[in-house]
Amino acid sequence: MARIAYVNGRYVTGDLAAVSIEDRGYQFADGVYEVIWVQQGKPVDLERHFDRLDCSLDSLNIPWPMSRRALGVVVGEVLRRNFTRNGHVYIQATRGAARRNHLVPEGTAPSLVVTASREGPRDAAIQDQGVGVITIPDIRWKRCDIKSIALLPNILGKQKASREKAFDAWQVNGHDIITEGTTTNAWIVDEKDEVITHPANHHILSGITRRVVMELAEEGGLQVTERPFTVAEARAASEAFMTSTTNYVVPVVSIDGHKVGDGRPGPVTRGLYERYLAHVTGE
Ligand code: PMP
Repeated sequence: MARIAYVNGRYVTGDLAAVSIEDRGYQFADGVYEVIWVQQGKPVDLERHFDRLDCSLDSLNIPWPMSRRALGVVVGEVLRRNFTRNGHVYIQATRGAARRNHLVPEGTAPSLVVTASREGPRDAAIQDQGVGVITIPDIRWKRCDIKSIALLPNILGKQKASREKAFDAWQVNGHDIITEGTTTNAWIVDEKDEVITHPANHHILSGITRRVVMELAEEGGLQVTERPFTVAEARAASEAFMTSTTNYVVPVVSIDGHKVGDGRPGPVTRGLYERYLAHVTGE
């Protein structure tokens, strides 16, 4: 069945879904995006994703391509037309199409694309066995809080991880601090079961899953601390894990080939995964 995409005011089949070669997203990566999980046909944490989209657009001085309410309608319509039950919806807004020039012509209207993808059941082995990560230098710009479509360092990092049979690459800044993964937020758990993750500042993307997991951890009586942690600290942690919209909560059992804890997913991570799963499924 052909997939239906929303492209600048029209619902079109995948083969006809196209933007101008002068779109600034294509020419300059001048745009932002959101990925929202869909469970039983309903977007999960939609308002939080819209709030972050608002921050990203505002930081880049790109106007909303339509009202927030209208975007909610478009998201629902794309899901309906694609019969998406479980999967994700992708929203990309760029500064629009204009003759190529760094300077943006006055009155350029933003572009908007919304697509939906189905996803099958999760790979149970990931929860049972955990995954490995590698570390790489964080070579990104100083506004990683903006969910920009300019993702070259993340893409190169993810490819390196794949070549090295790792699930993801955790990015390390000049002070030996792990900022985050290429598509995930990074966490550790210390020997007192304190859950630690990098503060939500300009050095990381403030993940929606990160925020929800923080709340669920606190509800579950865990101490959550937002502070930077080093590679050495992560290797010596009792547990490590990562979070994202598409991966939920993933246990990390090795960092650069060094075992974390006893090399198996730990109870804190498992508990948070269960709580997050319940949050997504509403059970
Ligand atoms: N950090 C980066 C760099 C990411 O790309 C993502 C996923 N888009 C995340 C963190 C996790 O964010 P979220 O929980 O909102 O998916």
